[in-house]
Amino acid sequence: MRQQFTQVLTKAANGNELTKEDIVTLLQALPGEEEEQLFQLADRVRQENLGDAVHLRGIIEFSNYCRNDCHYCGLRRSNKDIKRYRISQEEIIEAARHAAELGYGTIVLQAGEDLHYSGEQLADMIRQVKEVGDFAITVCVGDRSREDYELMRKAGADRYLLKHETADPELYTKMRPGTSLEERIKRLNWLRELGFQVGSGNMVGLPGQTVETLAEDILLLKELDVEMAGIGPFIPHHQTPLKDSPAGDLKLTLKALAVARLVLPKTHLPATTAVGTLHPTGRQIALNCGANVIMPNLSPAVYREMYQIYPEKAGSKEDADESHERITSLVKEVGRQISTGRGDSPKEHFKNGPAL
Ligand code: SF4
Repeated sequence: MRQQFTQVLTKAANGNELTKEDIVTLLQALPGEEEEQLFQLADRVRQENLGDAVHLRGIIEFSNYCRNDCHYCGLRRSNKDIKRYRISQEEIIEAARHAAELGYGTIVLQAGEDLHYSGEQLADMIRQVKEVGDFAITVCVGDRSREDYELMRKAGADRYLLKHETADPELYTKMRPGTSLEERIKRLNWLRELGFQVGSGNMVGLPGQTVETLAEDILLLKELDVEMAGIGPFIPHHQTPLKDSPAGDLKLTLKALAVARLVLPKTHLPATTAVGTLHPTGRQIALNCGANVIMPNLSPAVYREMYQIYPEKAGSKEDADESHERITSLVKEVGRQISTGRGDSPKEHFKNGPAL
């Protein structure tokens, strides 16, 4: 191993704070011993801080309408070739009941930025799902007003997932026309003030992204002190302006995940569906590089093919039982157990569920 790499890895192993330069050094780990040592350390840090449990977060994708036009996403409003849907309230409740039967402790209510739903309606949806079982509720519906976030929180939402996507402000606005990184960070701060467990995250391999940007992504996640961070590869969608761009690199994604684990020892990090799409055993590999969460899709099978942020999404041809079975067996494959309960952040004030 190169001397500089060994020095930074030792610094990380001793729990010292890493600079941007240190993070770049780790992200540039060479194939072979350097990568292996980085992944092993991330796995050890995960084990020491969060144990062996893998938390499952069951996702219900209730609408694929979106007002935005993000260059990397198949749900963008300019894509006229997808069939749009909104799931009925009854179907959402049914999916939640099924999640309860399967033992899920968290339901993620996810949609595009669909302003068809008012803040009140979203709050209602949250209340109804809460009545089904003792779930933690994560909401992932993008940019909304502070008042809407407050309504959702008061209705019982525990967590909110709002990825920052890239810490480069210019790239952010280029990829997400009409929006800004500053606005997104403002919202992440609102969510924090309102008492949500906050999730964010970024893509790896966006065209125009550098390894320095990736280091800034990780430092931003640290600055935001997030309870969850989703780090997954960019995957091109054939009905978007980025259709001819190459997908993010699997190894670089795993390195970003591993470094994130070193910088954020107690943060929940998913083995993303995107990494499972890029490689058949991508999620198993990610679980050995610092990840401790999986987010199985519990949406009714009929809608899955229509929720394609990127194509060939892992699990899009299954129903909820098949997804659950496959995820359960892949967790066993890596010698870990599925957690019981809600899997809240281990931070002291969130341990027994956040106070409202
Ligand atoms: S990434 Fe989100 S906000 Fe952007 S187009 Fe897709 S669903 Fe809409």
